[in-house]
Amino acid sequence: MANRVVLALGSNLGNRRRWLVLALAHLSLDEKIELIDVSGVYESKALTLSGVDSTKPRYLNCVAEISTEYKPEQLLNVLQNIELKLGRKKRERWGNRNIDIDIIKFGEISYRSEKLTIPHPQAANRAFVIVPWYEMNQDAELPGIGKISKLAYIFADQVKLK
Ligand code: AMP
Repeated sequence: MANRVVLALGSNLGNRRRWLVLALAHLSLDEKIELIDVSGVYESKALTLSGVDSTKPRYLNCVAEISTEYKPEQLLNVLQNIELKLGRKKRERWGNRNIDIDIIKFGEISYRSEKLTIPHPQAANRAFVIVPWYEMNQDAELPGIGKISKLAYIFADQVKLK
């Protein structure tokens, strides 16, 4: 059975837009993934454990909706392989990265393992997820939160359409 999955992509190193486009190209070349929709590209300040860090390079972000028959951890492996193919080196949390792909929502599934939490536990706090996602789908809902429209209005000025 195929699930609709929302992914968040980000890059803050090198040719950021190119990394986003290449990641989307890799996703659509996977025979078990159908790319359904992609948001516009937004710029956001880098976020670290201690909050916004204006000394770090800014991110370009977008959100994509896919349909896939992969199970959650299989999809995580596919995403991590794409990150590796695109040359992502360090898996340092909160570190700079040329490409990062997170699973935000996976159908209506709640899933928790050592490797993966779905829905993404920080999704509702992140302007760079909520604003592009709302632009892509104004009826979007985050399990546990409901419609994301209110959050999108609150976060609107924290990211900039590029
Ligand atoms: P980062 O690449 O720094 O965002 O961290 C990714 C790590 O978070 C990966 O090693 C995953 O195992 C873990 N993780 C937990 N939940 C998720 C999720 N919903 N999407 C992507 N990675 C996740």
